[in-house]
Amino acid sequence: MRRGACPSLAAPMASGDGLIARMALPEGLSPGQLAGLAAAATRYGNGLVEVTARGSLQVRGLRPETAGGFADTLAGLRILPAEGPPVLTGPLAGLDPEEIADPRPLAAALRRFDGVLLPKVSAVVDGGGALHLDAVPADLRLRATPKGWVVAVGGAAAAARVIGRYPVAEDAVAAGLAVLARLSAAGVRARDLDIGPAAGLPMRDPACPVGRFALVDGIGRGVALAFGKVEATALAALAGAVEGAAAIRPAPGRAVIAVGLSDAADRRLVAAAERLGLVTDPGDARLRVVACAGAPACGAALLPTRAIAGRLAGRVALPAGARLHLSGCPKRCAQPAGPAVTLVGTPGGPMVTGEGTTVAAALGARLLEEARA
Ligand code: SF4
Repeated sequence: MRRGACPSLAAPMASGDGLIARMALPEGLSPGQLAGLAAAATRYGNGLVEVTARGSLQVRGLRPETAGGFADTLAGLRILPAEGPPVLTGPLAGLDPEEIADPRPLAAALRRFDGVLLPKVSAVVDGGGALHLDAVPADLRLRATPKGWVVAVGGAAAAARVIGRYPVAEDAVAAGLAVLARLSAAGVRARDLDIGPAAGLPMRDPACPVGRFALVDGIGRGVALAFGKVEATALAALAGAVEGAAAIRPAPGRAVIAVGLSDAADRRLVAAAERLGLVTDPGDARLRVVACAGAPACGAALLPTRAIAGRLAGRVALPAGARLHLSGCPKRCAQPAGPAVTLVGTPGGPMVTGEGTTVAAALGARLLEEARA
């Protein structure tokens, strides 16, 4: 297992509860494919499915002797994860009437880059619209504007370093490929490139994937997985409730969005999601809590993060604009962008830290008490 590498369907990685297979599915799955994937996650894994902060779908608890069967089953369902370097597009790409430009052709061109990159190097191609990608960090960022494409490197949009503006999409792709070639040749991440100061890009209102979206064809409905995970059986039930959907797309923010819904299908989906314990309200307190896999799922974990998350969501007063981050160990895999109060398991015991915010003594004490419960 390479340090810092990411799991994939072809090369699942070990965790505390078995192997993890992670997939980028930018065009999403049909309801039938989602039901098939859920059944395969139960048969070959431990029945736990997650959507990551970047909108990848991952299945947990595979074993060396079952991972091949899982991959074969997905191939039989024609579930084909995106290949090449990780290039993220918004979950409503090509469907949002407010989108400035369709990012998918540019993303496809960047995925054809065939140089060797460090494992976590990633790109975003952001066409704009309701679910833009300003908060998603990336080594390379292409952002649509009314005058063409901006190319930037490093960080989330607010910290990115702009390297060029291109009226023509092909020129933006060429500039992006040149950045990837430079990262490949130097064997570094974008933060290590000497490209001048971080001027940043103008930030738009935060994008929340939970809710109803008017699309060019039908309705989109986003629901989030509570603390990023869902039982495969619940996912199968959700797939059954959206039989008329054109697709279900995983979305950044640990959510899934069903697209191409009628009004009636939208109502059915919301009712099913609520029954299944998914997050249907953008104001739900669970959206302010980010938890890594934690114990028992992750072998490195020193805290049962998701159990703690369930006990604390909506029951502690957080500083304005901050999220509660529960990290099972000091690696902080799930560290959210922006201000956060973090409860972290360490070999010396639980600790509370503030990132971009201060932590009131009473809040810190409550978190430590919960960690020791
Ligand atoms: S932060 Fe630590 S405990 Fe949590 S998933 Fe990452 S390695 Fe595991």
